[in-house]
Amino acid sequence: MPPDSHFDTRSVTHGGGRQPMVAEDVVVPIHLTSTYAVDDIDPDASLEDLDPDAGEYLYSRLSNPTRNALEHRLASLEGGQHAMAFASGTSAIVATVMACVEPGGHVVAFEDLYGGTKTMLTRLFEARLGVDVSFVDARDPAAVASALSAETSLVWMETPTNPLMRLCDVEAIAELAHDAGAVLGVDNTFASPVLQRPLELGADLVVHSTTKYLNGHSDSVGGAVVTDDACLADEIGFLQQVGMGNVLSPFDSFLTLRGIKTLPLRMERHEANARAIAAFLADHPRVTDVHYPGLPSHPQHDLAARQMDGFGGMLSFEVDADLEGVTTFLGSLSAFPLAVSLGGVESLVEHPATMTHSPLSPDDRAALGITDALVRLSVGVENVEDLIADLDTGLAALR
Ligand SMILES: *Cc1c(COP(=O)(O)O)cnc(C)c1O
Repeated sequence: MPPDSHFDTRSVTHGGGRQPMVAEDVVVPIHLTSTYAVDDIDPDASLEDLDPDAGEYLYSRLSNPTRNALEHRLASLEGGQHAMAFASGTSAIVATVMACVEPGGHVVAFEDLYGGTKTMLTRLFEARLGVDVSFVDARDPAAVASALSAETSLVWMETPTNPLMRLCDVEAIAELAHDAGAVLGVDNTFASPVLQRPLELGADLVVHSTTKYLNGHSDSVGGAVVTDDACLADEIGFLQQVGMGNVLSPFDSFLTLRGIKTLPLRMERHEANARAIAAFLADHPRVTDVHYPGLPSHPQHDLAARQMDGFGGMLSFEVDADLEGVTTFLGSLSAFPLAVSLGGVESLVEHPATMTHSPLSPDDRAALGITDALVRLSVGVENVEDLIADLDTGLAALR
C-alpha cells in the first residue's frame, strides 16, 4: 500500500490483510475473512478444483481455514476421509438424508430417534418430498431386514438412542443395508468417536451434533458429517455449500476445535460418574428402572461391550411417582439444571415426556416406552459424590 494513498483507503487496508500468515501459531486462529484475493483469473478453473489444503480459498461459504482445520480433525477422529462442518446437527442430517434419497424413495429408520430427526423425516421428507419412511425397532436386525425393499436407499440409525439408551448392531445392519443396495448413516452424537466409530463397523456416513460431546461446553451449536465415500462427500458438499449455504462459522469452528482437545479426558470422567450414578439409582427403592448400557442388567449390555469402547455419560431412569411426584423430584435438585441438550461438562436433567418428546402424541410416547416417570441425565464431570447426594435429596423429597 503506497503511504500516500488516501485516508479512507488506508483506514480500510493499511497494515494488514494481504500478508501471508508468518507466525507459527500453535493454535488454529479464528480466520474471519468472508472472501480471498486470488492471484489471477483462470478460465479453466472450476469451484470443485479448489484445494483448501493447498491454501486455495475463494469464499468462506465454500471453505475457510478454521473450518477446514476442524473438518480435518473430525475426519481423523471418526476414521474417515471427508468431513463437513455444519451450523447445526440438524442441518448435517438434512443434507445427508437429502443426498441419499429421491422423491418416491424409501428410508428405514430406528423408531427411537432424536425427536427433531423424527419430525424432520415425517414432516419434511414424508409429507413434503414424497419419501416413504419405515420406523422400526432396530434393536432386532431382523426388523430392519424385513423393512428393506428395492426402493430403500438409506438406513438411518442412532445408537445408543435418546432417551431410552437402546442400541442397534451397526455391523449387522451395515451388512443388511449393503445387501439391499442402501447406504447406512449413523448419528454418533451420544457415543462420540471416543466410544464408537461407526465407519469402522461398516457404516457409510456418520453425523454429529457437535453441540453435544464434541464441543462439550454448551456454548456452540454445530454439526458434522464424516464419510469415506467420495461421491457422497461431493453431493453433501454441494448441498451444504451451494444448495443450502449452511456452514459452521469460524468462531464456532474454533470453539469446537478447542473443545475436542479434551474430548478423551472428558469422556473418561463422564463415564466414571455415569457408572457410579447408574449403580446408585439401580439400588434406590424409589427408582423402578435404570437405562444405562454399562449396567449388566441392560438387555443389550453385551452388544454395548462389543460395539463400544465404553458406555458413556447418558442415562435415563424411571422414578416411582406420578407426574406430580416427578415435578417435585426435579424441583428438589440443585446440581442438575433442568434443561434440554447434553454432553457438556455440567450435568443436566431433562424430562422427555414434557420437553424433548412433547411433540410426539401420548400414544406414540407410550408405544416407545417414554412414560411420565422417565427422567434423563446428562452426567457431567463434577465430583460424583456431590451429584449422588443431590439425587438422593431429590428422591427423598418423594416420601
Ligand atoms: C442434539 C441432537 C441432534 C440435533 O443437533 P442440533 O445441533 O441441535 O441441530 C441430532 N441428533 C442427536 C442424537 C442429538 O442429540
